[in-house]
Amino acid sequence: MTVENLVIIGSGPAGYTAAIYAGRAQLNPLVFEGFAAGGVPGGQLMTTTEVENFPGFPAGIQGPELMQQMRQQALRWGARLIQDDVVRVDFQQRPFRVASEELEVYTQGVIICTGATAKRLHLPGEEQFWNNGISACAICDGANPLFQGAEVAVVGGGDSAAEEALYLTKYASRVHLLVRRDCLRASKTMQDRLFHHPQIEIHWHSIPVTAYGDEVLRGVKVQNVQTQEVSSFPVSGLFYAIGHTPNTQIFQGQLALDPGGYIPTLGKSTATDIPGIWAAGDVQDREYRQAITAAGTGCMAALEAERWLSEERSPVLSVFA
Ligand SMILES: Cc1cc2nc3c(=O)[nH]c(=O)nc-3n(C[C@H](O)[C@H](O)[C@H](O)COP(=O)(O)OP(=O)(O)OC[C@H]3O[C@@H](n4cnc5c(N)ncnc54)[C@H](O)[C@@H]3O)c2cc1C
Repeated sequence: MTVENLVIIGSGPAGYTAAIYAGRAQLNPLVFEGFAAGGVPGGQLMTTTEVENFPGFPAGIQGPELMQQMRQQALRWGARLIQDDVVRVDFQQRPFRVASEELEVYTQGVIICTGATAKRLHLPGEEQFWNNGISACAICDGANPLFQGAEVAVVGGGDSAAEEALYLTKYASRVHLLVRRDCLRASKTMQDRLFHHPQIEIHWHSIPVTAYGDEVLRGVKVQNVQTQEVSSFPVSGLFYAIGHTPNTQIFQGQLALDPGGYIPTLGKSTATDIPGIWAAGDVQDREYRQAITAAGTGCMAALEAERWLSEERSPVLSVFA
């Protein structure tokens, strides 16, 4: 039986960074890049245009180009990449088992980097204006010239929605916060900041029902769920802050997940509750959700895996050995 040193599941910034570090550490990592489950190979940045905040690219870089460069770097250091979804894992015995429809492998260690998917509303017009006015990340897209001095709307009532609304006041002239209920789930402190901010207007019992525009978003139709009345908000931006779904369905029953489906990690590390399994990137991070933090934790996971594998004195086996 051939046993891999390290299998990495996922090919976003976390997965490729883990692959680069593990490759350089001569662990000969095997990466399941994904295919359709939980997003496309390359991860969430494949679905965006300009990335303005990833260090090293002062003029910005297109998301797909950044991911292509990370992929090349992982290949350069010997990572073996398979463009396939993992459909089944067995973490109950060692070596662990990881399987796609095509391939089943045994492995000493696993780094899970399957990311998270931003929840969408699937409004009429949403596909057309996605990345062209509609976004699920104010920190990523707020500085876009489309929103400078413009009116924008944020959907949601929790802490993320409050943070997105407050963040957008740096760029937008006015931020409309659309809240389905008559109260916010955000913390008291966040609520106070929202209520007292002169650029933020809260609309209770309100949900967006249609996005409209031409080449770019020009506005949103908003329905009052109590009166059913529909009104037009001429906004240039619509930001979803209605949560993310971590891509952990295949890990249910295999390792600890928190009530939101995220993988809890131990203290400052990327260790999960099972020795030999680490989690990096958005799949374990409900707070920062940025490419650089995903890459950072991918690096941590690979370093922790390298240490753990050598401490375990695991025989370094490889399919190429
Ligand atoms: C539209 C948009 C714009 C963004 N803009 C920015 C920005 O400008 N700056 C910034 O810092 N951040 C931005 N972000 C956030 C950033 O993309 C994420 O924080 C980052 O991609 C998370 O990286 P990750 O590696 O954890 O996961 P992801 O990028 O989500 O990658 C997950 C990977 O796991 C794979 N996968 C999932 N399930 C399986 C499975 N069963 N088997 C195998 N593989 C699987 C997927 O195919 C994918 O490759 C943006 C996000 C979005 C959606």
